[in-house]
Amino acid sequence: KVLCATGIIAGLLAFFWKDTFNPESLSGARVLLTGASAGIGEQMAYHYAKFGAEIVLTARREAVLQKVVEKCLTLGAKKIFYIPADMSSPSEPEKVVQFAVQKLGGLDYLVLNHIGVTHFQMWAGDVEYTRWLMQVNFFSYVALATAALPTLEKNKGSLVVVSSLTGKIPTPFTTSYSATKFALDGFFSSLRHELIMQNRNVSVTLCILGLIDTDTALENTRGKVHLTAFPAPEAALAIIRGGATRVQEVFYPWWLQYMCCLWVLFPNDRDQVLRSYYNYSSP
Ligand code: NDP
Repeated sequence: KVLCATGIIAGLLAFFWKDTFNPESLSGARVLLTGASAGIGEQMAYHYAKFGAEIVLTARREAVLQKVVEKCLTLGAKKIFYIPADMSSPSEPEKVVQFAVQKLGGLDYLVLNHIGVTHFQMWAGDVEYTRWLMQVNFFSYVALATAALPTLEKNKGSLVVVSSLTGKIPTPFTTSYSATKFALDGFFSSLRHELIMQNRNVSVTLCILGLIDTDTALENTRGKVHLTAFPAPEAALAIIRGGATRVQEVFYPWWLQYMCCLWVLFPNDRDQVLRSYYNYSSP
């Protein structure tokens, strides 16, 4: 009963809570955004453009990045550049940060969002793939953040890390992906403490997303899960608001936060809950 009441009160608070997000704070803000050619990253680029930010976009596909840049210009981006880069290459993160700092004169936001190609399927023993995915989804995030920290600190900036519910709750078909997202949570949540301990004014926002209706996610999960996919533009805005208001964690949709709490509080009921969302009969 206590839990139920707490959940209802928390839900009501979340519903009526007016956060302190001021869109004007993003006008002229200098943003480096990864994974910006498609999906949630592309939608974040459009929001930042509308808010009048100065942006550097990165992903691998140059032609697609060019199209996103063109649309951002029509939406109001103050300044916008792109740099094609493959984050499976360990030398790329530093190059990308240097490019952004040189073009924008510094950074206020580093938004880490890219992911390597993810197979939503059962573990088949491909250790090399896991190593590669760790490089793209985790080590490149660490390298990008490390290269950007001095300029972020100088500008009292923000580090925004896009993670997933599978970085809090392990689910089927996501062995390697889930491992990279748990790694992000461990690294960046620990880093947040260390920055606070050292009075270094850089906020770290970890974003925990549920299923979002991007082309890749819908294609990957088709026929395998019984879950509603939430709209990418809304997810993108939730991430941007969280970064701008310097919160430690963003949950989108918001109620995922309570799902994570229940997950910890009721370990014996976890399997039953998972089975209702996944198709256990035909993997
Ligand atoms: P998409 O697959 O739609 O986009 C991935 C982006 O990463 C693209 O811009 C892609 O561009 C880029 N990318 C892919 N490989 C590389 C690489 N090797 N080096 C550099 N960039 C690369 O992903 P989503 O928009 O669905 O996901 C965005 C974030 O949200 C991810 O961190 C994901 O984990 C998280 N998330 C998504 C959920 C969902 O349901 N969609 C659920 C939970 C979390 P290009 O191909 O041009 O390189």
